[in-house]
Amino acid sequence: MILYLTERAEVVDHYEDKLIRTVSTSFKLPKVLRLFQTHKLSHNVKFTRMNVFYRDQFQCQYCSTRLPVNELTFDHVIPVSQNGGTNWDNVVTCCKPCNTHKGSKTLKVAGMKLLKTPKKPRWSPELCLRLLEDDPVEWWNFFPEKIAS
Ligand SMILES: [Zn+2]
Repeated sequence: MILYLTERAEVVDHYEDKLIRTVSTSFKLPKVLRLFQTHKLSHNVKFTRMNVFYRDQFQCQYCSTRLPVNELTFDHVIPVSQNGGTNWDNVVTCCKPCNTHKGSKTLKVAGMKLLKTPKKPRWSPELCLRLLEDDPVEWWNFFPEKIAS
């Protein structure tokens, strides 16, 4: 809504039956918005705790267990003690047992494998929504990979 109201997006489709009322006006709730500046969003993904979780889909990158945020932590693939950086290419989502097992060892020494090589996401992870069964069917048209939970 902020993107729309600050004219950073236009409405492609809206709900017929849902109105948003402000003090001075009312309008139909947008269902699909087109962003005017996707390039800014795609090149400027901030390295944050939540964005790493989103990129990794809340899944431990070693044992592939999916967990709630409070049961997740991070692992430096190349340990900090071996000059591994705290950045997109070296930090992955990790469950606590795997984190304890790996400790400050390298993958090889720990005998562990990554699900995928970590890298900076091309899209802002918080915008990569997961579609659910009761989301509007129109949204499915905008997702190249149709993932239903
Ligand atoms: Zn794990």
